[in-house]
Amino acid sequence: MQFNTKTIHGGQENIDPAYGAVMPPIYQTSTYSQTSPGNHKGFEYSRSANPTRTALENSLASIENGKYGLAFASGLAAIDAIIKLLKPGDEVISTNDLYGGSYRLFTSIFEGLGIKFHFVGMESTTAVEAKINKNTKLIWAETPTNPMMNIIDIEALAKIAKTNKVLLAVDNTFATAYLQQPLDLGADIVMHSATKYLGGHSDVVMGSVVVNNEELANKLYFIQNASGGIAGPMDSFLVLRGIKTLHLRMQRHSENGRAVAKFLSEHPKVEKVYWPGLENHPNHEIAKKQMKDFGGMVSFTTKGNSYEDAIKFTEKVKVFTLAESLGGVESLAGHPASMTHASIPKEEREKTGVVDSLIRLSVGIEDEKDLIEDLKQALA
Ligand SMILES: *Cc1c(COP(=O)(O)O)cnc(C)c1O
Repeated sequence: MQFNTKTIHGGQENIDPAYGAVMPPIYQTSTYSQTSPGNHKGFEYSRSANPTRTALENSLASIENGKYGLAFASGLAAIDAIIKLLKPGDEVISTNDLYGGSYRLFTSIFEGLGIKFHFVGMESTTAVEAKINKNTKLIWAETPTNPMMNIIDIEALAKIAKTNKVLLAVDNTFATAYLQQPLDLGADIVMHSATKYLGGHSDVVMGSVVVNNEELANKLYFIQNASGGIAGPMDSFLVLRGIKTLHLRMQRHSENGRAVAKFLSEHPKVEKVYWPGLENHPNHEIAKKQMKDFGGMVSFTTKGNSYEDAIKFTEKVKVFTLAESLGGVESLAGHPASMTHASIPKEEREKTGVVDSLIRLSVGIEDEKDLIEDLKQALA
């Protein structure tokens, strides 16, 4: 099956056996009747498994070219489950330019439980290799990164991970399986905040994990059931529906992203534009190698780097909505320094480029002309 067919049919061969419903019903049930103890139809209790969630988990595995899919209550619940593969004393090498909530989970929860995190810039693989020691168990990469749109070479990281027998996990939220497939590039684990592009309509919070290795899958299923951060049936239904148009949406997000990046690059008030499709992007060649297109996430700074101007811009936009999150059909604008990245100390965030004037856009799938007009008037 090709990708655009997988989004619709992947892993969905068992159409509703009761009535032939084309969409998997929302099995809003916690438990399942048994004819005698242990004699059931594959489902016992909805924390362990639920048919709507299973349908989604199979779809997730299919679009990522993986074997095993897992759906969690949020992206952070998915990351939480992955880090629970580790033990006190284990070490993780993580990109230093990552989602603020992931940073908070690593430093405020898991460091307290004895897991050590090293944050490095991963555009240089030598920086990653320098931190590897006998306790290293996991490399955590996010690409494109949030909000600086840095690109990390997944294939190069996978080689380092294999040589050193450590796991490589990739947060694929920004690219989605439409643009990039980390498992095919050698990653062991691919994780998503399905809240974003997979759901695609800003109406659900969810996380996902996909792997190919059976032993790893079993450990993760165990954690999913034992810790219980599962996705509910209604939310599973919504994300399953979202995935069916993922390819169409990502194509349009990428087209609009290109138009917005071009417009901003030519605007006299704009200092820098961060979009991996621009030829002057420092990692453009790697992006071209591992991504099919470059998506709808665009960040930029303005000349003078004024905090107040950035705030004013976010108040002036009309088609873009000032809001956290990303990946929905509607365009959003955010100010990382005061919103998503407020939990990262100023000194730490500025090292990675999250300066006061930085604006992050999640370019939606509206008409390109309206988006450009809106940016024009807000910048004015
Ligand atoms: C939103 C996001 C997360 C966290 O996901 P939630 O669904 O909000 O818990 C993790 N990584 C990235 C890149 C994100 O954008």
